[in-house]
Amino acid sequence: MKLTLYGAANEVTGSCNLLEHGRSRILVDCGMFQGRDHLDRKNNIPPHLGAKTLDAVLLTHGHLDHCGRLPLLMRSGFRGPIYATKGTIEIAKIILADAANIQENEVGRLNRKRARAGLRGLKPLFNMHDVEQVFSHFHPVELGADFSIKDELNVRYYEAGHILGSASITVTANVNGTQKKLVFSGDLGQFDVPLMRDPAVINNADAVIMESTYGDRDHRTVSDTVSEFESIIKEAIRTRSKILIPSFAVGRTQSILYHLAEMFRNGIVEPIPIYLDSPMAIAATKIYLDFAELMDPEISELLSSGQLRKDLSTLQLCETAEQSQALNAIDGPCIIIAGAGMCNAGRIVHHLKHNLWKQNCYVIIVGYQAKGSLGRLLVEGAKKVKIMGDTISVGARIASLGGFSAHAGQSDLLRWLAPMADSKPLVILNHGESHALNLLSEKIREKFALHPDVPRMADSLVLDEKAFANR
Ligand SMILES: [Zn+2]
Repeated sequence: MKLTLYGAANEVTGSCNLLEHGRSRILVDCGMFQGRDHLDRKNNIPPHLGAKTLDAVLLTHGHLDHCGRLPLLMRSGFRGPIYATKGTIEIAKIILADAANIQENEVGRLNRKRARAGLRGLKPLFNMHDVEQVFSHFHPVELGADFSIKDELNVRYYEAGHILGSASITVTANVNGTQKKLVFSGDLGQFDVPLMRDPAVINNADAVIMESTYGDRDHRTVSDTVSEFESIIKEAIRTRSKILIPSFAVGRTQSILYHLAEMFRNGIVEPIPIYLDSPMAIAATKIYLDFAELMDPEISELLSSGQLRKDLSTLQLCETAEQSQALNAIDGPCIIIAGAGMCNAGRIVHHLKHNLWKQNCYVIIVGYQAKGSLGRLLVEGAKKVKIMGDTISVGARIASLGGFSAHAGQSDLLRWLAPMADSKPLVILNHGESHALNLLSEKIREKFALHPDVPRMADSLVLDEKAFANR
């Protein structure tokens, strides 16, 4: 059995794990590298990955950094099933369609510039046709139900509590006469937060491939985060400011809306207009409503009683570009929620360009900002930034609210690993920057006396009897 990481090795994005065993070759996730340019040269399918000879893809969830290279995989000749939960399939559909759109638009814009400079045109990484190829290969799976690949690998999906449909995946196989269980964490959510269910408890494992995004720290508690969010909103209302919330369309947006609803319902702040300025976030919110049974039971009740709709009576949906542009002329106080979450594309870029220089503007960062993204520069206190070729000085107040993260913090990562630790698994850490990987690794050594491996890009780990015996 051999595992090779083709992404999210010593970094957060680009998740892609190749598992080879006997006659079977499968991928767990096939995500895009983000944070720099979409046309990043790393966003390809390496020939030695052998797209045509892969038997299947197991998709943990619908975020672009986990599914964004699937269209390229189809282009490279992959024709097998892409297994995912129903929630994930719906989410991945809107995320991939949006990615194709963004790329076609961006490349169009770049090409107009390049043409004026006498340069050759660029091509988008993929288009809608490629994305539709992916859709036709999706194969829905239920949480907790077993299925097999080539009668050789037994697969089961578990709740991961990260976003709607998200899953951890176990793959069990016979290695030289004994059954070995591999656990792929996927992205893990926080325990005990509203909206999402807790990540499932998985007992026993021979190897655990585990995300480490926030392996270096704990988030602030949800209640501290909500208090801070409330005071920013109060202050913004007092100063009649615009509040810009760059938000991932899936997960974070719904969680922000949930907390705003609660704030309005409890009379903590007066209801102010909320503009959900993202067709993708609007579509994702509809999917969340359609699959309410996959979320925390409290949500189903708020929905069926009509309470949530009442709480969010000031919510306006901006589907069209005209509706989005019209927001430039609107004065605060108001809240604009727009994508992309890391401020490197989408409508938020326009809102930042128009408002970032102003004093009566707040930018609330609610999610992970990859190195090199505009959001990361803002969080790190940049005084000036470049947006669409223009230099914009930063007059707005930038606030970072870690507690709304859809990712487990360090303590929750350890809590998830704990029920497996007694079986002394090989622990393989991925999906983290080096600082997070090192600190999580240290914690796991201290707490469980396990010695995690931190593979580099394209490193292969041979999981044979010797490897399992030496753990
Ligand atoms: Zn994710």
